[in-house]
Amino acid sequence: MTIGRFAPTPSGALHFGSLVAAVGSFVSAKRQGGKWLVRMEDIDAPRVKAGAADEILRTLEAFGLEWDSEVVYQHTRLEAYRAALESLRERGLTYECCCSRKDLAATNGIHPPQCVARRRGKSAAFRVKTPAFRVKTPDETVGFCDRLCGEFRQNLRAEVGDFVLRQGENEFAYQLAVVVDDAFSGVTEGVRGADILISTPRQIYLQRLLGFPTPDYAHLPLVLGTDGMKLSKQNRAQPIMIQHAEKSLKSALHFLGIFVPRELDTVRTILHWACKSDTRD
Ligand code: GLU
Repeated sequence: MTIGRFAPTPSGALHFGSLVAAVGSFVSAKRQGGKWLVRMEDIDAPRVKAGAADEILRTLEAFGLEWDSEVVYQHTRLEAYRAALESLRERGLTYECCCSRKDLAATNGIHPPQCVARRRGKSAAFRVKTPAFRVKTPDETVGFCDRLCGEFRQNLRAEVGDFVLRQGENEFAYQLAVVVDDAFSGVTEGVRGADILISTPRQIYLQRLLGFPTPDYAHLPLVLGTDGMKLSKQNRAQPIMIQHAEKSLKSALHFLGIFVPRELDTVRTILHWACKSDTRD
């Protein structure tokens, strides 16, 4: 069975770009007779805003986007992330690192197979701060075929470098958390914004190391503001108004290439129509 999900970071109210991701993932799962889950990616403490998670859930409800299982909150999942990291560490796939951004400036932030800080004898850094954990990346191409974007490949060592899985004591990285949680929830497809396309080879690499299946991926076109930048909570995109839910829902579907007949004027009838498989183009 298809299991899709929407995984917002509760850093503010939903804006039109995140509504497109929610609606796109919902319609895709439902057209295949599948389930749709919601996960709050709330472990990036400086970005999380009090009350935003509840507000996002209320907005989804107002749009008729009903989730099929209990909402997963990442802040409750730290033990699972710790266990996954430990299994990689035991197999010698990770190492501790105290390199600063400055240390990596010469390599464009790409961490080479050996720690720059250590090589320069800056081991004192290890005494003053809790080191980060990085995963070793292979000199290999990791690729996949995205349902919308087609083939996408990356040489992780050359293009990304050894990447961080945990910072400090408890700050688990998005890349690790998303992989552990998608597997935990049995997610079979990741329908999300195209800004995450570039992270997907890292996630596939971690799935392989951890023995998890790789979901299908479809990265949706990004909604851009008049300044040409992706709409985001950080650049203060307008929150979605639940008073105009029908209109916004039709616009989100329109953005995804689904044109809803005029006479449909409730969120339920609009969604029902959009999710019928015979509306697929
Ligand atoms: N939390 C991410 C975001 O809000 C989405 C992650 C994902 O869908 O994998 O952009």
